[in-house]
Parts: sequence; C-alpha cells; structure tokens
Amino acid sequence: MVIESIPKAAGFIYGLLAFAALAWLWYSGRFTRRRALPFLIVSVLLGFLVFAPVFPYQLQMVVLGNAAALGSPLPAAIGGLLAFIALALVFGRVICGQVCPAGAVQELMYLVPAKKRGRAESRAPVAVRAGVFIVFLVAALGLSVNLLALIGLPAFFHLAIAGVSFFVFLAIVLLSAVVYRPFCRYVCPYGALLAPAASRALYRLRRTDACIKCRKCERACPTGEADPSARLGECYLCGRCTEVCPVDGALVYGRGK
Ligand code: SF4
Ligand code: SF4
Repeated sequence: MVIESIPKAAGFIYGLLAFAALAWLWYSGRFTRRRALPFLIVSVLLGFLVFAPVFPYQLQMVVLGNAAALGSPLPAAIGGLLAFIALALVFGRVICGQVCPAGAVQELMYLVPAKKRGRAESRAPVAVRAGVFIVFLVAALGLSVNLLALIGLPAFFHLAIAGVSFFVFLAIVLLSAVVYRPFCRYVCPYGALLAPAASRALYRLRRTDACIKCRKCERACPTGEADPSARLGECYLCGRCTEVCPVDGALVYGRGK
C-alpha cells in the first residue's frame, strides 16, 4: 500500500507541522483527546501511504547506514532524528503521543473496549526496552541485522502479508488493545532515546496547589507517569490524566517540575 513515488520528506514535514500544532495545543491548555484524534488517524494513514514519519525505522536505517532506504541523505536523517530528540527535551514526547505512525496505531487500538492489563507499570518496560536497545545496536552494528524488519515494522505498514514478519507486528498491534503501547514501551529504540530526554523536558505535566489529591489522574494513566514522583520519561502525552482531573488548573502542562 505504501506509494513509493511520494517522497519520505512529506512525512517529515507532516511530523514537524503536527508536532508544532500539538505542542501549541498543550502549551495553550487546549489539548483534548478529541482534538488529538485527527492527528492519530492522519499519522496512521501516512504510515500506510508513505511509511513516514516512522521514526524508529528511520533510526534503524541510520544505524545500518542504509541511506537509500531512508529517502534522504544520511546526514539529513541523522539531523532530523536529533532535532526531534532536542524537541523532546523541551516539550516531552509529543511525537510519540500522536505523530509517529507506530505509536498512533497502538494508541488507536487501545481505544478498543477490552479489559486492560499492565496498567501503571513503568519500570519493567523501561528495563526490557533498554535490553532490546543493546540487542538492536549489536545486531545492527555487529551483524548488519535489521531487527525492526524481523519484528515486522516495515512489513506491517507495507501490508506485506506474504511474510511472517507482517504477522509479528500485527500481533503487537492487536496486543495493544489490552496492553498500552507494547512496541513503544518494550521495544522501540528511538523511544529509548526519547524517554531520557522527555524526563528532563522543560515543559511537562505538573500538579499545582489546586490539586485535591483525588488520584483520578493516577488511575487513568496507563504508564504510571501521573504519579507526582514520576519523571515523565514514559509519558506519551495521551491526555487521559488531564481529561479526568476534576479541578480546573490542578494538572497543567507548563514549565518546571
Ligand atoms: S516510542 Fe517509538 S514507536 Fe512509539 S511513538 Fe515513540 S518513536 Fe514511535
Ligand atoms: S495519562 Fe499518563 S501517559 Fe497520559 S498524559 Fe497523563 S501522565 Fe502522560
């Protein structure tokens, strides 16, 4: 289904524009899950039409040094990936929230009404993802193995149903109906780089003195990051916590801790 004649740069430009729009929605206090929904849908459609901006696969190709598959010169791809890490240092994981097609498709699947598992668990997924990141680097740099292709990330968006790998990623997507973002939280190598940046983000969700400690946000958060002591590296800016908060101004996206 991916239309190869559409330049991958179209996905990157969309990524920048969507990032700016979503960051502004958060900054201005206008972010709602309803407003974020069109971004999720467009991002997934671009994944299937352009296979961009699929950031983790771009990272995979950069580490493999495969400029041809990137659709852009290697330095430009590296610059793009670094730019979004720098943006995560300011605004948090906006691109994971609604822009990256791999994240968006899992976010949409989590809307399926099914009993949810593994909520509020953040440490184990981070530890697993750190291990996968080492395997990812060793496989790519030492053995020239494309781990994300084995997992089926490109096969899924190319609808390459003839291969086994398509069904591996399809299984991950189906799993995300019950487990929140299994690929992002347990596997994604780019997420492994974005999370430490987001945990130091200048702008972040924070509670104010208006908080009445009802803990509704903590119960709504699928990653345990609404806890006041959380560092927010695993906050996907999904908006569930702000949506359920009963007090205006108690949970805000703003500067500082
Ligand atoms: S964690 Fe990785 S796959 Fe998930 S949204 Fe972020 S970049 Fe995309
Ligand atoms: S519910 Fe959790 S993951 Fe979603 S925005 Fe709030 S703190 Fe972040």
